[in-house]
Amino acid sequence: MSDPDRTIWLDGELVPWGKAQVHVLSHSMARGSLVFDYMSVRQNERGTAIFRLDDHVQRFLDSCELVGLPLVQDAAALKQACIEAVKANPGARVVKLNAYLPSVEVDVVPVDDHVAVAAAAYDPWSDVTERRSEVPARPPKTVRLWLEKERKQRRPDIMHPHAKVAANYASPMVAKWRAKRRGYDEVLLVDEQGMLAEGPTTNFFLVDGEGTLHTPPEQSVLLGVTRRSILAIAEADGYKVVEERIHPDALWVAAEAFLTGTSAGVWPIQSVDERPIGQECPGPVSRALAERFREVTAGRDEAFEHWLTYVEGV
Ligand code: PMP
Repeated sequence: MSDPDRTIWLDGELVPWGKAQVHVLSHSMARGSLVFDYMSVRQNERGTAIFRLDDHVQRFLDSCELVGLPLVQDAAALKQACIEAVKANPGARVVKLNAYLPSVEVDVVPVDDHVAVAAAAYDPWSDVTERRSEVPARPPKTVRLWLEKERKQRRPDIMHPHAKVAANYASPMVAKWRAKRRGYDEVLLVDEQGMLAEGPTTNFFLVDGEGTLHTPPEQSVLLGVTRRSILAIAEADGYKVVEERIHPDALWVAAEAFLTGTSAGVWPIQSVDERPIGQECPGPVSRALAERFREVTAGRDEAFEHWLTYVEGV
């Protein structure tokens, strides 16, 4: 597979895609210590904008803090890195911001604690996925979920669920890989008490028979920017919203359920363990919120216009 014609912002310089490399024995590779964040780039009528850049950068700083990475850049410098990466890569649909320890290390604690920062702006579909013939085209419009029952995830006593660090994705990877081999699209993870938590890269919402939205509380999930956006939009639109612990049995009596995420948007759940959710999929609430979210990200809603940071000169 040839490299896409893109540059990556790396410690202040734009380097060709293929040159943004680390050593196989680097600390981040060996110990999973890379911290990252992933945000969307929207092309709309007004131009090119990063969605909720401030919030993503703040979450990135919080993740570094939770992992203990001694990052030297402040929020302003990180935002500028993302903007420069987008400017240099027209047509990009996402920005991935990374902080990692590139040094070759022997011990768990690095001797050289220089944290490198990389901001990569690209199109995950045309630059990566569509270059591999074995990878299926885009994900399905509705999702067939497997409820993970064996592996309890989101253990703050191991690594805080708020930390977007590579190591936190190893356990969900095992669960999702197994589910995919059984023909499911995605997994729903449970916390250490067996209550519903989130997907490996998405948050979870359930709609009850009264039209009230329920989502697991902040302490057991990553603080998804899409989750927060949907909560704000739903409240503005007059939905009742409850953040609470949800027992898996609530799935079987739910009217609707959906996942949210930067890549997924609002992704309606068709079934869990092959049991259909609700009467129709997508249900009316999921459909309405998905449409509202699209409008907001397209810059067609004044109330949420401040969530878009426009990048001049793209
Ligand atoms: N949970 C986890 C564990 C994730 O990795 C992600 C993706 N960042 C999400 C939820 C969804 O977050 P966001 O809406 O910010 O993409």
